[in-house]
Amino acid sequence: MWINFIFVLILFFGVFIGFKSFTVARGENNSAFDELSKIDLNKSLDELEELQGINERPPGAMCYKVVSPPERAEYVCPVCGEMSLYPDYYSYIDKIPSYRNLIKKINKSKKIQVELDESQLCRNCSTEYILSPELCLIVKQDENSQPKKTCGITEDDLNLLYEYSEGKPVTDRKDRLKELLCTQD
Ligand SMILES: [Zn+2]
Repeated sequence: MWINFIFVLILFFGVFIGFKSFTVARGENNSAFDELSKIDLNKSLDELEELQGINERPPGAMCYKVVSPPERAEYVCPVCGEMSLYPDYYSYIDKIPSYRNLIKKINKSKKIQVELDESQLCRNCSTEYILSPELCLIVKQDENSQPKKTCGITEDDLNLLYEYSEGKPVTDRKDRLKELLCTQD
């Protein structure tokens, strides 16, 4: 009988201690969970402050980009010496000195007489404002012939005239040569 009572008592204590341990463990788990939640919340708040900080920065501090000066083609008039500026897509302006040299060579041959007309390019010399100035070429087949003026000429046109003046075959570009040389079609 006593043995049974002691056994029940031990069992009762065992159950009580087990239940207490479980409660404590559960309580600890809860507080650990609470701690984690607090850390997460603090972290989120810090992140939020950082984001707000980014938004509060003055826009001028980060929203700028380096603007390089626009490229310009510089034309210096051989007549008056004044400089006229053009957008960089007027790339032929840089080639004008080499065009002048090529024309000297063409004229030396005495087969044709060629003159480069740069008058549209000088803002100082040109009497009217030309929105898209072109380089022109005045070609005479001989002293007495009518001059033929062609505007918007290219480097290929000058090379064609040079080859023609040197007596080289230009059969594949005869039509263009005719346009550059002949006053009548
Ligand atoms: Zn000029």
